[in-house]
Amino acid sequence: MAYSADVLIVGAGIGGLTAAALLQERGFSTLTLEKNSYPGGSCASFSHQGYTFDAGASVFYGFAGDEKSGTLNLHTRIFNRLGITLPTIADPVQIHYHLPDGLEVPVYYEKERFLATLIDRFPSEEVGIRAFYQELEAVYEILSALPAGSLEDVTHILQVGMKHPGKVMALAVKTFKSMGKTARKYISDDELLRFIDMESYSWAVQDAVSTPLVNAGICLADRHHGGINYPAGGSGAIPAALCEGIRKFGGEVAFGCDAEEILLQNGRAAGVRLRNGEVFTAKAVISNATVWDTFNRLLKDPRYDISEERFLRAPSWFQLYLGVDAGVIPDGFHVHHILVDEWDKYNEIGGTIYFSAPSMLDPSLAPEGKHVIHAFVTDEMDRWNGYARGESAYSRAKEGFGNSVIIRTEKILPGLSDALDVRLFATPLTNQRYLNRYKGSYGPLLYPGQNVLQKPQNCTVVKDLYAVGDSTFPGQGVIAVTYSGVSCASYVARVLGNPLEYL
Ligand SMILES: Cc1cc2nc3c(=O)[nH]c(=O)nc-3n(C[C@H](O)[C@H](O)[C@H](O)COP(=O)(O)OP(=O)(O)OC[C@H]3O[C@@H](n4cnc5c(N)ncnc54)[C@H](O)[C@@H]3O)c2cc1C
Repeated sequence: MAYSADVLIVGAGIGGLTAAALLQERGFSTLTLEKNSYPGGSCASFSHQGYTFDAGASVFYGFAGDEKSGTLNLHTRIFNRLGITLPTIADPVQIHYHLPDGLEVPVYYEKERFLATLIDRFPSEEVGIRAFYQELEAVYEILSALPAGSLEDVTHILQVGMKHPGKVMALAVKTFKSMGKTARKYISDDELLRFIDMESYSWAVQDAVSTPLVNAGICLADRHHGGINYPAGGSGAIPAALCEGIRKFGGEVAFGCDAEEILLQNGRAAGVRLRNGEVFTAKAVISNATVWDTFNRLLKDPRYDISEERFLRAPSWFQLYLGVDAGVIPDGFHVHHILVDEWDKYNEIGGTIYFSAPSMLDPSLAPEGKHVIHAFVTDEMDRWNGYARGESAYSRAKEGFGNSVIIRTEKILPGLSDALDVRLFATPLTNQRYLNRYKGSYGPLLYPGQNVLQKPQNCTVVKDLYAVGDSTFPGQGVIAVTYSGVSCASYVARVLGNPLEYL
């Protein structure tokens, strides 16, 4: 049978593009179908009136040197494999936290400098602080020694297990541990434990007790090793470079291709039908959509439907894209900030403000004398469902909520309201429209107490249908979905008879 490609990928998010690029480089033909006119999903850039905004992500891991042989620095390894250069700019502070009661913590690249800030505020907890962050370091050391592959690939697991038996055993034990419970072993100060909750909430949108220690070991340790590096040109430079890699090896990324249905034949995934009726066939299909969109929308067979409650649905976002006079940003200001006014509200809708000003790293993102700011807070679709695009009530509601976030942000950036040149507000409705994500959600989370390995892997209940992206292990975040892309490509390549070489 003549297939359209060996593998069809629905969605050109970082997960889908990573899987496509590695499969294409290995010699499989791939066709990636993206509904938007640009790649990247939550890691895209867009331009407006001379400003280049990060649509979502702007804190990036995985771009450090390639001297070690483990799973970390995945972007560097992948782009080396593809022979693509992606310049990045080192970001000296991962996040500057501004928390209640004047708790100010910039997370410096230099670990001792970061720890010193914490110890200065909580001197009696010095031993506990060091012991907790050392636990994260231990996870990092294991992960940075193990090659990336699929946990569903028995050959890979056996190979890694035989080569690194001690590390694999230690990691297996750590998968049962939570970040928050580990912190409580060493630390008793309530305010410090709240800070640890924020360390987890900043990327996992969950408190520390609900967050697996293994995931924390990547985000909170690698920042002091590989560090945080920003792609020159903005977040969209990452998907653009992945597309370049796919095309370099003969693959295709097709835009304006809204997949309506994953087609089944004799119980296996056999192709994709677009909204315009066009049909493509393949030996395997990879879905980069969320778990709810894949099983409840793209698969039309109700036997595969899953309930929303099967996973803990993360909220969506209200986002502000601002162009501002450069003078409003003082000397020494850091690029990424998290702002919480009241501890009791940090995990309520809108309770935590996330803030980035990436033109401080790459001035080409803003016109001369200006900066770009991307700020966002959690939000829920239910608050916006009653509005229609273009109606004045919707604009007024967006203005009202957006302005309230700007005023709260003035706590760290006085004069912000008067320095605005451009402002765009995006609601959960916008998120759903651009990303096709169920309720505009950040994606499925584990329920407190669940093991990280209970996150869906790449294989699905449908033969030849695979899943990639933040609905799959290990979860949300660009480096995490990149891992899911590597593991998905590894598994599919082995099934199709030409396994990937380790990165
Ligand atoms: C506001 C915000 C801030 C964030 N900040 C950070 C950060 O600083 N650092 C970090 O590491 N992570 C951050 N993240 C998380 C990170 O961006 C995501 O976890 C990651 O990019 C998700 O990638 P993905 O491949 O799973 O899916 P997505 O980015 O959702 O991409 C899926 C793609 O599939 C396409 N698609 C879906 N359905 C169809 C269909 N039926 N037909 C065709 N195409 C389809 C979509 O259009 C989209 O392009 C942030 C996310 C958000 C929303």
